[in-house]
Amino acid sequence: MHPIQRHRTQSVRVGEVTLGGDAPIRVQSMTNTDTADIRVTADQVLELARAGSELVRLTVNNDAAARAVPGIRDELARRGCEVPLIGDFHFNGHRLLTDHPACAEVLAKYRINPGNVGRGAKKDVQFATLIELACRYEKPVRIGVNWGSLDPELVVRLMDANARGSAPRDTEAVVREAMVTSALESAARAEALGLGSERIVLSCKMSGVWDLIAVYRDLARRCRYALHLGLTEAGMGSKGIVASAAALAVLLAEGIGDTLRISLTPEPGGSRTQEVRVAQEILQSLGLRAFSPSVTACPGCGRTTSTLFQELAQDIETYLRDQMPRWRGQFPGVESMVVAVMGCVVNGPGESKQANIGISLPGTGERPAAPVYMDGEKVTTLKGEGIAEAFKRLVEDYVQRRYGGQA
Ligand code: SF4
Repeated sequence: MHPIQRHRTQSVRVGEVTLGGDAPIRVQSMTNTDTADIRVTADQVLELARAGSELVRLTVNNDAAARAVPGIRDELARRGCEVPLIGDFHFNGHRLLTDHPACAEVLAKYRINPGNVGRGAKKDVQFATLIELACRYEKPVRIGVNWGSLDPELVVRLMDANARGSAPRDTEAVVREAMVTSALESAARAEALGLGSERIVLSCKMSGVWDLIAVYRDLARRCRYALHLGLTEAGMGSKGIVASAAALAVLLAEGIGDTLRISLTPEPGGSRTQEVRVAQEILQSLGLRAFSPSVTACPGCGRTTSTLFQELAQDIETYLRDQMPRWRGQFPGVESMVVAVMGCVVNGPGESKQANIGISLPGTGERPAAPVYMDGEKVTTLKGEGIAEAFKRLVEDYVQRRYGGQA
């Protein structure tokens, strides 16, 4: 069991999914298709949901997108997918939700950015319209502040107050305070307009790791609203993954966060589902949730001079992931299984004994034999060609016996 004490927050119902309170920390994602294209968007939502996204957000930026939302919901229902859809609104959300009641009805949550609701006198009116619509359709709202679109009037107000103070803080500190103030003042306003705290989720996304940590610590200290975590504009590839993991791991380890989205820029032609897998791996690494069996593999060294070891580790990882859609329903608990794939007998048997099932491949100069351990006991030694296939059969047998209620 992980030792993390979760920060207590108000639980929020989003369609059939609960987040906050005692609910598991939820994984979210966002499409990057043209929402107006029903088929393409439904395809991507389905792909994200199948990868494990428990909520999927769509941009709703114009009339065509708003008109398409009910069609996307219908198409998903036809394909057996009930994942809650969240609408992302900027500037014209009040009008789109007013003009397209079917869209307002089928969305499970509205995301609004207080910095992009409107300018000047229109801001308060348009914000009030959005909240009134959320109340009418009984929908939760995420008040999602983003440092790239922070309410300029609020920043000026806080900068002026800071300059007049006896001990002015640096600009970064004032911006962080503006982020939290924007979220909390908007939430207070939404509550004053009739939206219950059980329908409010807050986020304050920044692109700097330490800024994000500071802002969410402050937010967690000052409120009990459910919190959505994410490092905004995290970037591409390993940079985005590492920066997101670094920031979110600190917050999650402190018990902060009820749902998260990893904002990765996909590689050209890369799958959007990578952001789902990274979110799952962060949660699973911290012991907060289990999504799929984990593979313990040594890094390899000069003792592993053939590629057999890397190929087997990759092969097993892919095999486990591919089996999960079938295993998840048939074998409850299989997501917590640990499989060890080790490169030689130095640490191999020890690591294999700690895993549910493990294999130690022969290192350079070792006997060409691969001992296999199950639940700490050596059960067989595999030899010759076809070690990978033989090991996968052993894993399947183990899963059926251990998680199939036949053990
Ligand atoms: S288990 Fe063996 S092959 Fe793997 S890193 Fe350790 S010594 Fe090297």
